[in-house]
Amino acid sequence: MQAIRFHEYGGPEVLRYEQVPDPVLRQDQVLVRVKACAMNHLDLWVRMGTTRSPLPHIPGSDIAGEIVSVGEYVTGVRAGERVLLAPMAFCNHCPACADGRQNQCPQFTVLGNANDGGDCALISVPQVNVIPIPETLTFDQAASVPLVFLTAWHMLVGRARIRPGQSVLVLGAGSGVGIAAIQIAKKIFRATVITTAGTEAKMEKARQLGADHVINHYQQKIGNEVRRISGKQGVDIVVEHVGKATWEDSVKSLKAGGTLVTCGATTGPEVGLDLRFVYSRQLSVLGSYMGTLGELHEVLKFVFDGTLQPVVDRVFPLREARAAHEHMEKSQMFGKIVLNP
Ligand SMILES: [Zn+2]
Repeated sequence: MQAIRFHEYGGPEVLRYEQVPDPVLRQDQVLVRVKACAMNHLDLWVRMGTTRSPLPHIPGSDIAGEIVSVGEYVTGVRAGERVLLAPMAFCNHCPACADGRQNQCPQFTVLGNANDGGDCALISVPQVNVIPIPETLTFDQAASVPLVFLTAWHMLVGRARIRPGQSVLVLGAGSGVGIAAIQIAKKIFRATVITTAGTEAKMEKARQLGADHVINHYQQKIGNEVRRISGKQGVDIVVEHVGKATWEDSVKSLKAGGTLVTCGATTGPEVGLDLRFVYSRQLSVLGSYMGTLGELHEVLKFVFDGTLQPVVDRVFPLREARAAHEHMEKSQMFGKIVLNP
């Protein structure tokens, strides 16, 4: 089959469109023809060697496609079904997996990180990863859902324990996690949502997703604006994934007793924290990593019934993955970049 693969870590130029062996279908697996694979920032880290993926490597975590065939032990799904794949691998027999906390499994990894991903024509995965999708979702839309909607759901619901009517600051409206978090907070929990964006066009799109207030993070100081908007109170929950560039503002934006939940550090991982501020204002700082398989099924219900909507920024042919990576590195997108084999 044809695949995007790299044999050394580096810039977008290391990506090669080349012939690789077809995957071998185990008896407990499902073989899927990839129709769309959405990109995440993880693809850039993986390509640059930050996560030390084995070489040569096929990246790509968010996959939608059609079942080609199923192994002898697989029941319940059949050839021809349209599906998306849970973007994770786990052992399925350790205490954490048995308890449904797959993202705490010692062997947990995001699909396309420690193992080969979906930037290719065919992939075989365990049946537990395969989730049928409704006709109302295109493959490009379906591929834009799993990783970011699961991450945002785990942050808001699993970790920060959002309650109806709370106030939420979501950093980076145009990012995949931002798009998902704004919608989950607004459409399901009727939260007051404040978010940030860098251009007038993106600010307008954020409002269309349901944001009540949008801060221009290039022209306004986020912490000051959140205090102004909230009548000096601050917000109940901050959804962080930016890291160094926004950390100070994010902490400053919290209400007394508020919760900051973080799933990433796109602009850098080293940040400061004034402990006097943390204990006197009784703040919670929580880490979040992907989510559980059960949570993916929970959030997908709202995607499948149309309450939550994936946003596709741009679709590239798979062989133009290099251009897609360059597009992502410029951070110009609002929504997901999708590759079509
Ligand atoms: Zn496990």
